Amino acid sequence: GELASRMKKTGAEVVKQLIKLGVMASLSDIIDYDTAALVAIELGCKVEHEVVVTIEERLIDDHADKEEDLVSRAPIVVVMGHVDHGKTSLLDKIREANVVAGEAGGITQHIGAYRVAVNGSPITFLDTPGHEAFTSMRARGAMVTDIAILVVAADDGIMPQTVESINHAKAAKIPIIVAINKMDVPGANPDRIKQQLTEYELVSDEWGGDTVVVPISAKTGMGIDRLLEMVVLTAEMQELRANPDRAARGTVIEARLDKGRGPIMTVLVQNGTLKLNDIIIAGTAVGHVRVMTNDRGERVSEAGPSVPVEISGMSEVPDAGDTFNAVADERMARELVEQRKAEKKNASATSVKVSLEDLFSRIQQGELKDLNIIVKADVQGSAEAIKSSLVKLSNDEVRVRVIHSGVGAISESDVMLAATSGAIVVGFNVRPDNAARDSAVRSNVDIRMYRVIYDAINEIEAAMKGMLAPKF
Ligand code: GDP
Repeated sequence: GELASRMKKTGAEVVKQLIKLGVMASLSDIIDYDTAALVAIELGCKVEHEVVVTIEERLIDDHADKEEDLVSRAPIVVVMGHVDHGKTSLLDKIREANVVAGEAGGITQHIGAYRVAVNGSPITFLDTPGHEAFTSMRARGAMVTDIAILVVAADDGIMPQTVESINHAKAAKIPIIVAINKMDVPGANPDRIKQQLTEYELVSDEWGGDTVVVPISAKTGMGIDRLLEMVVLTAEMQELRANPDRAARGTVIEARLDKGRGPIMTVLVQNGTLKLNDIIIAGTAVGHVRVMTNDRGERVSEAGPSVPVEISGMSEVPDAGDTFNAVADERMARELVEQRKAEKKNASATSVKVSLEDLFSRIQQGELKDLNIIVKADVQGSAEAIKSSLVKLSNDEVRVRVIHSGVGAISESDVMLAATSGAIVVGFNVRPDNAARDSAVRSNVDIRMYRVIYDAINEIEAAMKGMLAPKF
């Protein structure tokens, strides 16, 4: 329709040309540039491809790296697992045991991430354990981590947050290495944990699967060397690479306001090299790299790929999970920041997420091939029952996938997982807590609560078929 009016032709003429090309389209359909160009030429118009360049595109160099410019980079590792299973102890132990030789007694600075070297191979650890930080970064579009270490206490086994961690790592498509911790506790039984893990499709390599499982003790240090070697091996298989010779790009992993020093942020460089005095833009903050400090509190003048550094010199405090870019033009950077601020204001109102109401039309338009669902229930039995009934609703057009299920109230972490995976949340005899409710409103996540399993299945089935009763 728009093409017709721009060419001052009738809709019928355009549709006729389209039919000649074998394209059956109505006036409200969208056609691609090539098709439109062919139609226009047929109708005697001159065609030029208009390229609209945004400030973002002019400012941020995102050319693809050439193969020969790439060098290997350290893996970025997150430690996840249930509370009290030993995540913090493990991170502390690794850090303690691997401070670069000669620096024993040196001050360690908690900046949100640290680096260790294992037989010469560097590894970067995110210092904030748990999947909340990880997921909130992912919810903001940041893909930071390459490998997850899942800590499971041998004396406690798989617990609700263990399952959440597994599902979060799976949703992020990163490999999971399992560390069975607290092996020093009398009666620790790693085989029982390995057995439990198989229920989540994590089959130990010793049992013919492909999940690396390492028994450790974060208290005595037992097994930690082997765990680190496994991280290095897993990273080698991923062939992680980056180009140090370009403007830096990465993610903000922590940010705060320091009374004396102003906004402080820790960034993880993911590509390129960040240098002192670089102009940087991070989310809606802009500034210069004034002071750059590494994880040992030393001032540095450069940070390459997979290196975390703390930086001061920003105009305001960005959000964790914001991407940052080193850019060449400060004036344009400020312009982009203003634009982003304006977009941020509108974004919450317009962000498109999956809801039962628009499910059918999106399935019909072929936009939605997988219907992702998160199930929370009051008891495990109900969660399982709902999960298996939902999966059975899959049909030729759409596959129903339960990407996470668990027992307990709907949490903020569930909502964030839903937001990042385009999922809806189904609660059975449970409610969202306050944080989850706020988060769902902010990120437009559809939460559905039911008291009867039959109602849940019925409503979702109806939505898939476009027969959902309207809500008043
Ligand atoms: P997080 O909540 O997962 O970070 O767990 P923490 O690292 O805080 O550990 C919880 C508790 O377990 C603490 O009291 C630790 O001292 C203890 N702990 C951690 N690792 C081990 C271990 O390997 N053996 C024993 N016996 N206790 C441990």
